Amino acid sequence: MKITRFKVNPFEEMCYILWHEDEKDAYIVDPGMMYDAEREMVDKFITDHKLNVKKVLVTHMHVDHVASATWAAKHYGASIDASKNDEFMGKSLNVQAQMFGLNITVDDITINSYLQDGDKLELNGETIEVMETPGHSKGSLSFYSKESESIIVGDLVFNGSIGRTDLLGGDYDELISAVKGKILPLPADTIICPGHGNITTVKDEKNNNPFLA
Ligand SMILES: [Zn+2]
Repeated sequence: MKITRFKVNPFEEMCYILWHEDEKDAYIVDPGMMYDAEREMVDKFITDHKLNVKKVLVTHMHVDHVASATWAAKHYGASIDASKNDEFMGKSLNVQAQMFGLNITVDDITINSYLQDGDKLELNGETIEVMETPGHSKGSLSFYSKESESIIVGDLVFNGSIGRTDLLGGDYDELISAVKGKILPLPADTIICPGHGNITTVKDEKNNNPFLA
């Protein structure tokens, strides 16, 4: 599986495309694009590689991660898969946008398929495991591919840092136990793909992340 990422919007959110060179199915994780030029950039990649976008996966329903979720679902005929625990936040995206001083209008999100801990998605013959990793929000999810030795974690943990827990549904203890209970036990070389900033590895965070000492 190939993982391609695009940095979008004023929050420098990372939108991930999961895809395969020969098999052409794709998932988009966290389409946070807020402007036409950003949507065109992502769409050009998808069109150039002739990808069939099957799903929009959501790590959590903050506006910087999902501003174009409904657009992507409609544009590609894809389903939106997310946690029921974050569903209410997908109905308050314009309030979130205002709170952050953004001058954009965002479509509310209708989840087509609820994801739960242990769910297994299949993309081009590869298994992607859904993990519930709350703490940044109640319904925060991570997406793990053992075969590709990669996990997309949203705003749970970053290179040398952790996600905020002061927003709605945030909980510091839950976040720390999600990272320690679910992320750190993964194989040491697993690549962590966070919602902002550089990629890192399980080993690096175990050894260097001051919040996990
Ligand atoms: Zn967030």
